[in-house]
Amino acid sequence: MPLLELTSVDVFHGDLQAVYGVSLGVDTGEVLALIGANGAGKSTLLRTVTGLMCARAGQLRFDGTSIAGLPAERIAALGIAMVPEGRLLFASLSVEENLLMGTLTRRGGPWTLQAVYALFPMLRELRHRNALQLSGGQQQMVAVGRALMGNPRLLLCDELSLGLAPLVIEEIYRAFARIRAEGLAIVLVEQDVARACAVSDRMLCLLKGRVTLQGPSAGVSHAQVAAAYFGE
Ligand code: ATP
Repeated sequence: MPLLELTSVDVFHGDLQAVYGVSLGVDTGEVLALIGANGAGKSTLLRTVTGLMCARAGQLRFDGTSIAGLPAERIAALGIAMVPEGRLLFASLSVEENLLMGTLTRRGGPWTLQAVYALFPMLRELRHRNALQLSGGQQQMVAVGRALMGNPRLLLCDELSLGLAPLVIEEIYRAFARIRAEGLAIVLVEQDVARACAVSDRMLCLLKGRVTLQGPSAGVSHAQVAAAYFGE
């Protein structure tokens, strides 16, 4: 049984349908890359898994339990954490206070302040700074660290590399490999398709809210991705 299993999920923004009959599964220790053009429904799907949005139809199960309709804090307490697009750090808090906000789920595990500082050593130096005084890349490290501090079993990452310099993106994805090694399940939204496929086990492409391709990331061809991504 997959750790996360979505079956025929429909999601709407008001009257506008953004996700149509999406089914997917993610196993413990597996990385699934969600790709698709702007507006394809990737963020909507992640927000639905975290309980920030509600599916209008279909089933969402986490570790065998239905999470459809549960409030976001209950879903977080079960072990689902998100690194949101745009990071959404707490503007009035320091780096360390932002990290500690991740512990509100009261889940124990390997991810402590010390473990996050070992993963991103520069955050230790910056821990008393206001989070918004940091560079974009450093803020992204705080956002990843904050999610890890909740010791999730499933980590959802929405566009980790958006707007960041190439060297910082490399650094964050190097850390990502170490996070993977802890055996979490990860769903990753990434605009850079080559990178998304390189860091994932399986990929799933959305086009206008529908799944157009899914399978092992290693085997997928450029032509298959182009057809699924653009609907050619
Ligand atoms: P991006 O890469 O631009 O973040 P995405 O694949 O994450 O795109 P979503 O943000 O999930 O796509 O958007 C899916 C659809 O839902 C789009 O048609 C978008 O215009 C619409 N949408 C997203 N947010 C809202 C909202 N708050 N109100 C109404 N429609 C929305």
